Amino acid sequence: MPYWQYYHTPQTVEEALAILARYNGAAQVIAGGTDLLIDLQYGGEPPRTALVDVTRIPEMTAINEVDDLVLLGAAVTHTAITRSALLEARATCLVESCGVIGGPQVRNVGTLGGNVAHALPAGDGATSLMALDAEAEVAWGDGRREWLPLAALYRGAGQSALDSRRDVLVRFRFRLAGAGEGSAFKRVMRPQGVALPVLGCAIWVKLDENKTRYVDARVCIGPVAPTPILATAVQDALRGQPCDDTALEAAIRAAHASLRPRASKYRATAEYRQLMIETLLRGALPLATRRAQTGQARAEGLGLG
Ligand SMILES: Cc1cc2nc3c(=O)[nH]c(=O)nc-3n(C[C@H](O)[C@H](O)[C@H](O)COP(=O)(O)OP(=O)(O)OC[C@H]3O[C@@H](n4cnc5c(N)ncnc54)[C@H](O)[C@@H]3O)c2cc1C
Repeated sequence: MPYWQYYHTPQTVEEALAILARYNGAAQVIAGGTDLLIDLQYGGEPPRTALVDVTRIPEMTAINEVDDLVLLGAAVTHTAITRSALLEARATCLVESCGVIGGPQVRNVGTLGGNVAHALPAGDGATSLMALDAEAEVAWGDGRREWLPLAALYRGAGQSALDSRRDVLVRFRFRLAGAGEGSAFKRVMRPQGVALPVLGCAIWVKLDENKTRYVDARVCIGPVAPTPILATAVQDALRGQPCDDTALEAAIRAAHASLRPRASKYRATAEYRQLMIETLLRGALPLATRRAQTGQARAEGLGLG
């Protein structure tokens, strides 16, 4: 049995919404297809009457800098993100997370929007978007467009607020790093790479004028909950503290006290994940801090899976 009958390639968001509305729930948005096609082939999902491919819609495939913000189309591929000099310099954690997703074949077609719309608790792209305080623009099936905090798109593990049979995730926006700001992403992955990480960690920091003290921090470590969340206790432990080993140790203590990763049959025990929290913080926090201090950021670890 075919997995779909009709394949549409709209050129605008409005056209995509109109096609989805016409099928009244029997069609679904597809971007890179790296998750959806597996769900259709092996996940026991019923075939769709139609797929609506959003990767030919210009506003969804563009990366635009507007003032100190970036507008990043939901259908931008992971490869395109890793090749953006703007994002490498000023949203380094996102480049580092997209650069380790799958292998080159997955990154060449898989999109940031698909990573978020699939609503997994530890999608690598989503982890960094949380640390960057990103918002997402949704075109709802009823024609409304709305900007929402990224977290508002998540209802539970694998459950999105979006109905991808009616709604389209259009773009993301977030502030690019300015003076005294930097970010980094680190993850632990099984060597044979079972699609999602054992644990991932994205950190963004803002330092004071002298670049010796944390003014603000956002830390996303996942999965530690059914949806991506900010590690607020870790952030609180950093704010106002000098950028030194004492702050790092305080952040690690706060993480251990507040985060409870669960065991996963395919990835790791809860105990191993708990240990890896420390490893990731020891890697990502000094790196983000150094980038904020020097203003220099070269993405690390790309393509290492
Ligand atoms: C071998 C392999 C390795 C992988 N490794 C990783 C990894 O290391 N880390 C990781 O995070 N992920 C990994 N993934 C998962 C996947 O590749 C990513 O989540 C990818 O970003 C999904 O994007 P996509 O464009 O392929 O989504 P698709 O498969 O096209 O879509 C996924 C879901 O989102 C919906 N959707 C997509 N775009 C939109 C939109 N714009 N609006 C509304 N709904 C939308 C679709 O309807 C579908 O429900 C891996 C997958 C494979 C097959």
